[in-house]
Amino acid sequence: MDPDALRVGIGHDTHRLEPGGPLRLGGLELPSDYHAVGHSDADCLLHAITDAVLGAAALGDIGEMFPDTAEINRGRDSADMLTEAIARARQSGFRLVNLDCIVHLERPKLTLHKQKMLERIEAIVGLPPYRVGLKAKTGEKVGPVGNSEAVMAECVALMYREP
Ligand code: MG
Repeated sequence: MDPDALRVGIGHDTHRLEPGGPLRLGGLELPSDYHAVGHSDADCLLHAITDAVLGAAALGDIGEMFPDTAEINRGRDSADMLTEAIARARQSGFRLVNLDCIVHLERPKLTLHKQKMLERIEAIVGLPPYRVGLKAKTGEKVGPVGNSEAVMAECVALMYREP
């Protein structure tokens, strides 16, 4: 097997939560008692996916590609950043195979929103449903997630090099 044919990348992100919704997550505005704080639109899940894509293609990380010191990135739609990361990976010869994601959030419970979030992510990254996984975990009422002080997300991305 060609060792350059497949690449895996991992992404993680944490954002602080403050009172007052809605919560931007997975490219959607979810009804919530909290919102995430950040320089861009603070979409923790899309940031983790973006870092996983950039990692698989060895293109650095989201902070290097979209610095939070740049005015252009203030309040920026994270879907734009993810779209651009995928385009850059494609320029390097890599295409997405699949994503698997975990969101850590105490509330709202994501069960009701998971399907819409999946559909939004699939639309942004251009993958069919059977190639995108999304799991939601609470913090069991302990730690920053459990106390609704933070939202966290992880993602692994598999990419293949176009022959
Ligand atoms: Mg972030």
